Amino acid sequence: MDIQSRVQSVRARIEAACARAGRSPQEVTLVAVTKYVGVAEVRELIRCGIYDLGENRLQVALPKVEAIREPVRWHFIGHLQTNKVKDVLPRFSMIHSLDRYALAKEIDRRAQKMGIHEVPCLIQVNISGEESKGGLAPQEVKSFLESLVEFPTLRVQGLMTMAPRVQQAEEARPVFRGLRELRDSLRSVHVPYGQLRELSMGMSSDFEVAIEEGATMVRLGSILVKPSAREEERG
Ligand SMILES: *Cc1c(COP(=O)(O)O)cnc(C)c1O
Repeated sequence: MDIQSRVQSVRARIEAACARAGRSPQEVTLVAVTKYVGVAEVRELIRCGIYDLGENRLQVALPKVEAIREPVRWHFIGHLQTNKVKDVLPRFSMIHSLDRYALAKEIDRRAQKMGIHEVPCLIQVNISGEESKGGLAPQEVKSFLESLVEFPTLRVQGLMTMAPRVQQAEEARPVFRGLRELRDSLRSVHVPYGQLRELSMGMSSDFEVAIEEGATMVRLGSILVKPSAREEERG
């Protein structure tokens, strides 16, 4: 299937999930994860009207970020090392993986140096508790959020999580619900720049369940752009 048909099919599934949940499709941003593919596929996504693009590693992202001239928003969705912050800040519109104090501190320090006034971020939370997953434990998030008042450039706009790989998308539901409930419970924490609106959750295998549970951003890679094994063989 070509990228255009895949985008159409994914959009239809997003709309259907929104309808089931009584939500408007405009509340859900489709972030196309392009880590598997090159510039040509990114251009094709843009032609389909997708302007939110996600990458999890700086080195893999750079050639694409440099090549694309359209006004897209790049989302940094992977583990972020502090020594990469200076290269990520000028290129990415949002960091989905804020997960520690030292990283917050470095983001703020570099942003100030570069004259960047606002850095939209999401706090990554490990709801499932799997050891292999990054992110703060849910009970750590409140005090972490409060500690960020020291850093005037940080704009925490919500939370992000990754669900475990499961056989049935339905099994991921408690994780997505957990992130939403955590976000709701944090509404009482005063953040001077507004509310924690965003919930970045749901990937190719489970995005519909995530939308039913309140996702405002779904990060979709393989379902949009990854060549199937058969296509790879044909070359
Ligand atoms: C790769 C990746 C995705 C997309 O995963 P797919 O299963 O290919 O849709 C989403 N989020 C993060 C953090 C990723 O690294």
